[in-house]
Amino acid sequence: MPHEANPSRLPWPSFTAADPGLPAGDAAAVFDCQSCGACCAYSADWPRFSTEEDAQLERIPEKFVSADLSGMRCEGARCSALTGEVGKHTSCGIHDLRPDVCRACMPGGEDCLMARAAHGLAVS
Ligand code: SF4
Ligand code: SF4
Repeated sequence: MPHEANPSRLPWPSFTAADPGLPAGDAAAVFDCQSCGACCAYSADWPRFSTEEDAQLERIPEKFVSADLSGMRCEGARCSALTGEVGKHTSCGIHDLRPDVCRACMPGGEDCLMARAAHGLAVS
């Protein structure tokens, strides 16, 4: 049985263009997940389970899991674990338990830029 929801709302870490691994470009560009959340509200098909161990998935609160257990439950394109307002202030309600696809989406990476562009947010 999945555990009960963790009441803490942990934000993403902040990343800036000065961090290693981010694409070169405008030094002033900032990809700040805590004021974004675009990738978490991009598509209901996005936060799906893939390479996780069963034990990892069982720790995600049931209320955030889709009915067919294939991924995170979404409301429209938005993951149900996302709190806040996209493009202003957001956080992941299960940050420590988030699926692997969420961990793989790197600020400034291809998926990030696609999601940000779809929400009309700066991409450079
Ligand atoms: S779209 Fe990029 S900047 Fe926005 S929350 Fe996702 S990884 Fe962070
Ligand atoms: S689980 Fe967290 S990081 Fe993943 S899509 Fe949902 S809100 Fe975003």
